[in-house]
Amino acid sequence: MIINCPSCRKPMSSKATVCPNCGAERGELTDEQLSELSRRRLRDRIYRLKMASYAAISVLLAAAGWYFYEASDLDLTPSTGPLLLVAIGSVAYVVVRAFLFSAKRALKTH
Ligand SMILES: [Zn+2]
Repeated sequence: MIINCPSCRKPMSSKATVCPNCGAERGELTDEQLSELSRRRLRDRIYRLKMASYAAISVLLAAAGWYFYEASDLDLTPSTGPLLLVAIGSVAYVVVRAFLFSAKRALKTH
């Protein structure tokens, strides 16, 4: 079984007592505790990614609001700002969703 080093988080064999990457000892942690630890880290990561995806959606909503604000005012010359913000928000959202997808899959296999 492959676990993550409790010290450097690099993958290592659960049979190894010392991490080949950083040399940290696994100490008294059992396989069960270690896999619970990596599951907890994945859940933390999923939580942060969810927050990031909400932030990306907020950026998209703000961009839409900005766009319609400029579009509704005939005196204003529409700027590229809102479109730029939509592009940034969309890319960020897609990237975050991709990370979220792989983190959820990793959680299932742990
Ligand atoms: Zn390590």
